[in-house]
Amino acid sequence: MKKTFVELDQLKKITQKYPTPFHLYDEKGIRENARRLYEAFSWNPGFKEYFAVKATPNPSLMKILKEEGCGVDCSSYTELMLSDAVGFKGDEIMFSSNMTPAEDFVLARQLNAIINLDDITHIDYLDRLTGLPETISCRYNPGGDFAINNAIMDTPGEAKYGFTRSQLSEGFKQLQAKGVKNFGLHAFLASNTTDNQYYPTLAKILFQTAVELKQETGAQISFVNFSGGIGIPYLPEQSPADIYAIAADVQKVYEEILVPADMGEVAIFTELGRFMTGPYGCLVATAVHQKHIYKEYIGLDACAANLMRPAMYGAYHHITVMGKEGQPCNHKYDITGGLCENNDKFAIDRMLPKIDMGDLIVIHDTGAHGYAMGYNYNGKLRSAEVLLKEDGSSELIRRTETPVDYFATFDFDKELKGQFINKYPEIFGQ
Ligand SMILES: *Cc1c(COP(=O)(O)O)cnc(C)c1O
Repeated sequence: MKKTFVELDQLKKITQKYPTPFHLYDEKGIRENARRLYEAFSWNPGFKEYFAVKATPNPSLMKILKEEGCGVDCSSYTELMLSDAVGFKGDEIMFSSNMTPAEDFVLARQLNAIINLDDITHIDYLDRLTGLPETISCRYNPGGDFAINNAIMDTPGEAKYGFTRSQLSEGFKQLQAKGVKNFGLHAFLASNTTDNQYYPTLAKILFQTAVELKQETGAQISFVNFSGGIGIPYLPEQSPADIYAIAADVQKVYEEILVPADMGEVAIFTELGRFMTGPYGCLVATAVHQKHIYKEYIGLDACAANLMRPAMYGAYHHITVMGKEGQPCNHKYDITGGLCENNDKFAIDRMLPKIDMGDLIVIHDTGAHGYAMGYNYNGKLRSAEVLLKEDGSSELIRRTETPVDYFATFDFDKELKGQFINKYPEIFGQ
């Protein structure tokens, strides 16, 4: 049984202040989870989580994570700007980008962020742009398949990211020749996995590679970055990853490989996104239409523009009909949004209690890669984001988009703007 982090009465009060649809986040859940992560890795004195901003780029949530000791992982100009504005400084910012535009590198260097290079050609590119920093990280792609106990998890050989193994050796030498003093090593080999062996398996690869690189080049390696990838239980029958078991197994590998190589000072970094906020957010919508044709449809006031994962990946998101948690799931529905796209379905053939118009519908686990992947297709406007605070009160942490936002990129067109102001003064003002 998956439970919502908010009760019906509480949610009704929130919807009186903020009309649906909106994403709701659970401050308590986010803080407690971040504390568990830090506790689990407390054996590693340099441990730091760099929250992957792309998962949930909201300044209020970034502040909460900052208070819990996290840095941020950015991959674009605007993510860097946001992190800077929220108050992350220097080595609290990891810049793990790829196919990086020049201006993004320039800003990352201005902010003194730690740069994680995605490619060997970026060494010269960055050197010519800004010169190289003293500390730099390189992203490793071991190629082939990535397997845990013979089960194939992903195919790095098909992924666009990272240096090959031989490029790492060559790259470290080039960087040393250009004056780089401290190195990091990064890899991201599997996404959204709740398998507790993912990080320990990745650790083995990265630690061994770090030892080899040190032996080959004499480079001082000060951190290893496991990136993101720890998944969450989207399915009701799925168990969550056990962060304590994961961290304990990583420690064993650390003591087996790094400590004997006189590398017992290496810090462990992570760039978790989904794991940090995914379960602690939900999309709140209202059932506004029902259709009885060849199938039974329930239409929501939210659509795939608010949550793309089901349409894009066929991803499962659990659904709770608020106030009907105890009722039998004896109705089969497609739960849809209003896009002119037949893949705009939050659920297909889902067994749920009978839904009545006006029921509040909670779509679970939208706290990461939810709002963030939203888009404006069909002229749909982005929803608000609301924080359920630890004291039970709620706070608007992003307002709903309005038509003014949607049309803002035509602001050079004075005639069009005049028409909007004339015809829709209540939206555009005088
Ligand atoms: C997306 C991404 C992450 C976060 O991934 P999650 O699956 O949300 O943990 C971390 N690092 C990099 C470089 C990424 O691209």
